[in-house]
Amino acid sequence: MQLWDTHMHCCYSGDSEAEPDDMIKTAMDKGLSGIIFTDHLDWDYEAEPGLFDLDLPAYTDEMNMIAANINNYTGFHVGVGIELGLQPHLAQRHHKLLEEYSFDQVIGSTHVVGGVDPYYDTFYEGRSAKEAYELYFQEVLANIRAFDAFDTLGHLDYVSRYGMRHYGSDEGACRYEDFAPLLDEILLWLIHHGKSLEVNTGSFRGNDAATDPNPSYRILSRYFALGGRSITLGADAHKPEHVGLCFSSVAAKLKEIGFTEITYYLKRTPYTYPIL
Ligand SMILES: [Zn+2]
Ligand SMILES: [Zn+2]
Repeated sequence: MQLWDTHMHCCYSGDSEAEPDDMIKTAMDKGLSGIIFTDHLDWDYEAEPGLFDLDLPAYTDEMNMIAANINNYTGFHVGVGIELGLQPHLAQRHHKLLEEYSFDQVIGSTHVVGGVDPYYDTFYEGRSAKEAYELYFQEVLANIRAFDAFDTLGHLDYVSRYGMRHYGSDEGACRYEDFAPLLDEILLWLIHHGKSLEVNTGSFRGNDAATDPNPSYRILSRYFALGGRSITLGADAHKPEHVGLCFSSVAAKLKEIGFTEITYYLKRTPYTYPIL
């Protein structure tokens, strides 16, 4: 079965030291069909200003050269994409950026809520899990309403990854039912705008207790029930060892839910392969 890892980072991201060649080699060794690099660009990241200011000319020049070499001489495919850290006020800058630079796939992710990344404990202080998660999903909705020029929505319940760490796995569990109207609004927006929903297996990185990717199987089932069929798959690897993490088991679960194919983007055009 074909499998593409369409969400990964290398040394152009502020939080990765991985060499692109090492990521590519690992993906080939693991038998993947292709990968898409999606390095971070998070403008106005207040927690650590500048940390995720991607060097766009260097990233696009260097990575397109690496990709061309692989794509011309092997059966493997390397794409060059980007993970945009969305904030409502950045919409116009992001539109301009996408006019200036071309990418294979654009992931729209919410990493910041009102200036604070839920990665940090400060986001949860003075809030119940339900309040914190609600705020996060409201921000996701505000982001996609402000900016619709992405291909796939990154790790929809990202907040629960770090919320579980803060509140513990019981109180911190993110239940679809607690946020049903808000999540439905996001999922329906994606469906009506022809976007994909990402299945992100980064939740399994160094976490043996993890049972679900981001978003959870419950949310993915709801997306399917609402008519959503387009999903992308990515491990969000920042190191070679995490490339393609848990893809076989997650693909089997996706098939159980009813999904028949997985999407990836080249030059912003969707392609699919069947889940066998
Ligand atoms: Zn992300
Ligand atoms: Zn990422």
